[in-house]
Amino acid sequence: MMKIDLHVHTSHGSGCAYMDPDQLVQKAKFVGLDGVCITEHDQLWSRDNIERLKIKHDFLVIGGVEVSTDFGHVLVFGLHDSVREVGTIRELRKIVNKEGGVMILAHPFRYEPDIIGAHFLSISNGSSSSKELEKVCKDPDFKLIDIMEVYNGRSGINEINFTALVAKRLGLKSVGGSDAHATLELGTSYTVFEKEIKDEEDFIAQLKSGQFFGVDDRWSEDLVSAHP
Ligand SMILES: [Zn+2]
Ligand SMILES: [Zn+2]
Repeated sequence: MMKIDLHVHTSHGSGCAYMDPDQLVQKAKFVGLDGVCITEHDQLWSRDNIERLKIKHDFLVIGGVEVSTDFGHVLVFGLHDSVREVGTIRELRKIVNKEGGVMILAHPFRYEPDIIGAHFLSISNGSSSSKELEKVCKDPDFKLIDIMEVYNGRSGINEINFTALVAKRLGLKSVGGSDAHATLELGTSYTVFEKEIKDEEDFIAQLKSGQFFGVDDRWSEDLVSAHP
């Protein structure tokens, strides 16, 4: 079993982050993670730099990227060329298919507090669904992603629970990542993999096999199940 944080930013590639890559790995070890994925905004680390960090700390580091698209932020693994020119989720899907990578929709409802609020208001009187949930699930763009990031360290519990309901409804597997921009934020949300992962290739194979689940340690007993 391996605990991996699928979503981390560093000061090396994200201007908005405060943590340097060495601090990131040291803190990741300290909080009990077995690996981290570095996913800067629209920018990939070179394979050499990932490898250097991995060897320096004898710790699993995987290079990914958080791509901004017309369908929101997408964590992508398996790409090694620039993604700066990618604008739409459809274009991204084509590129990722060609490279045999994986697409994970990150914090899908971060900027939709009204939808989330209206949903929880409607179900507070006992109904199991809401018109907001039904409407969201009809969006055809969900067919273009492989996995949903349900557990995000920067999301609140309503956002996570709403995302879990959508993932369950759509039959999408869920993962967790801290979305940490500073060391203090590491270790809250992560993904548990059943098999050992040694490198990017193992990691992508495990994501495709579906043998993993997302975890959020902050509110475990208040979370709704995301299992389809
Ligand atoms: Zn994001
Ligand atoms: Zn992020």
